Amino acid sequence: MTVQVRLKVGLAAIAVGLAAACPSSALAAQSFDGTLRAVITDDLHHGRGSTDYRLESNGRSTPPLPTGVIEADDGARVTVTGTREQGHIVGDVRSRQAAARAAQGPRSLAVMLVAFEGDTRAPPWTPEQVRSRLFSDTSSTSAFFAEESYGKVSLVGRDDAGGDVFGWYTVPDVPDPCDQNSWTASAVAAAKADGRDLSAYDNVMFMIPREDCKWAGKGQLNGGTSWINGELTVRVTAHELGHNFGLHHANTLLCTAGGTAVTLSDTCEGYEYHDPWDAMGFYNPIRHNHGWNLERLGYLAPSNVRTVEASGTYQVRSALAESAEVTSLKIPRTRKADGEVVDHLSLELRESGGVFETFSSGHPATTGLTIRLTGVGAYPLSTHLLDTRPGTANYFFDATLPPGQTFSYGGTEIRLVAPPSGGRATVEVVIPLPRDTQAPAAPSGLKAQRSAGGVELTWTGSSDNRGVSGYEVYRDGAVLGRNAVASFRDASAGQGAHAYEVAALDEAGNISERSEPFVLPGVASPAPGATLSPDAPPVVVRDLSAPRVRLSSRRQGRRTVVSVSAADAGGIARLALKIDGRRRKVVRGPRLRYSWSLRGVRRGRHRLTAVAVDRSGNRGFRQSVFSLRR
Ligand SMILES: [Zn+2]
Ligand SMILES: [Zn+2]
Repeated sequence: MTVQVRLKVGLAAIAVGLAAACPSSALAAQSFDGTLRAVITDDLHHGRGSTDYRLESNGRSTPPLPTGVIEADDGARVTVTGTREQGHIVGDVRSRQAAARAAQGPRSLAVMLVAFEGDTRAPPWTPEQVRSRLFSDTSSTSAFFAEESYGKVSLVGRDDAGGDVFGWYTVPDVPDPCDQNSWTASAVAAAKADGRDLSAYDNVMFMIPREDCKWAGKGQLNGGTSWINGELTVRVTAHELGHNFGLHHANTLLCTAGGTAVTLSDTCEGYEYHDPWDAMGFYNPIRHNHGWNLERLGYLAPSNVRTVEASGTYQVRSALAESAEVTSLKIPRTRKADGEVVDHLSLELRESGGVFETFSSGHPATTGLTIRLTGVGAYPLSTHLLDTRPGTANYFFDATLPPGQTFSYGGTEIRLVAPPSGGRATVEVVIPLPRDTQAPAAPSGLKAQRSAGGVELTWTGSSDNRGVSGYEVYRDGAVLGRNAVASFRDASAGQGAHAYEVAALDEAGNISERSEPFVLPGVASPAPGATLSPDAPPVVVRDLSAPRVRLSSRRQGRRTVVSVSAADAGGIARLALKIDGRRRKVVRGPRLRYSWSLRGVRRGRHRLTAVAVDRSGNRGFRQSVFSLRR
């Protein structure tokens, strides 16, 4: 069985290397075999994650061009088949072997404590503290997985039943300790010299105390290795093990229609890590993974998951305790022409209990229905919590659908019939019939052009038996967004080359085949004096740092003047100000001033949020609370 990894890559070095060995026409499809490496880096303080993909082939390691979140497993043997265009290969990456899922049962974990030569500070943790946090205390990382997996998974040592924590080992100082690849081999060698065989473990976790590194953790996606920096918490360690077990991030989706906040539309922005009720978000206290992730982890029984294909009333129970009842309802949203479901609206109910699911009485997660957009395809592997009470001051902390209220999208209606009781609830679902099953034709004539505002995309509209409702746009294999008409502006494109595609949607959620890709060349200029042959790849300059954002407010009588500024080495593309979750002002540039009239504004606390996006799409944000006392 092959798993298609929908990644468009530019494998510049390999393309050039092969061209020398095997001259062929520039547009002939070619195949390249290699091993895919996928490591996710979590900068939890800035709320920014990034995934580093590399293809290792014939001793060469080639980073693909900037990619979004894609489904790919670390260590997978892949074949890239594509055509050479402008010095890159544009094509699909297929896994030649279905990746093995993380096995259940007691998983052996080795924790390595690593310090750098010349660092004279006292170690921040003792091995005993680490053992207790990871393996043995009642709220340990092992206890977390045991609780949410109904005892199917726990973390154990091989040498010591209480947990294997090795070190501190001192490794030679390196120019960039934040690059874990530069010292991990030294740490493994130090352990080996100490008689520890790390290859015998299911998972290995390296821990370093480096305040100068911007990340709190890194984890191989569906691999065995993680790296923790500076924070000895269940929040970070369970999150990185979650990546090892095959999970990506739990995000939120903020949508608007005609400038007004709505639950779901085709104009949405994702916020990475912002789902408060999943371990793949970044909130403390850590919560169990939600149903879609629990299913992916293999913790649910087949009877726990129900796909809703017809109108009716459905019972749902919280997944807190193991049962044979339905705990996860999935309503298909988008389908391909062959009927394959691309994404779902996933519904669940939470219940207070255990060590980690301690919700206060009347908490929105336990009194309403949680709705997420989930699925490989639209937002591959990652999930997006929807806000059914958009625009309220409580951001996503009250995102659930209250009893009696109806959520409608594309003709589908969802209603919680009565307040949940005893962790159970009844959900009424209306699905329009007869269902249209015919997908639109694939769009054609896609073109992309750089402009001052980003990259402008245009294409020829599609036809459909009932009518096209919109288009979905992809950059380098990942979804960029949707639009109702046959054009799109990509405001966050990087300087490098990109492969764009577009697909058409109809009202019923049928999605067409993707268009032929359009490859936009990179714009960075070569170093002075360098000469590039026509076949050489463009020089790819990636700005990887987030903008720094400052936010201040000053009361002036009946108004408050809010000032926001942002700075970034690569330049600021746009700056936005939100008050209580509602967008108030957006500018293209590094400075924003907003005069906020306090007339009619209620007394109490109001949340000001400034978001800056740099020209490479990195995002920085700053929040402050404004208290209005009159
Ligand atoms: Zn992460
Ligand atoms: Zn149709």
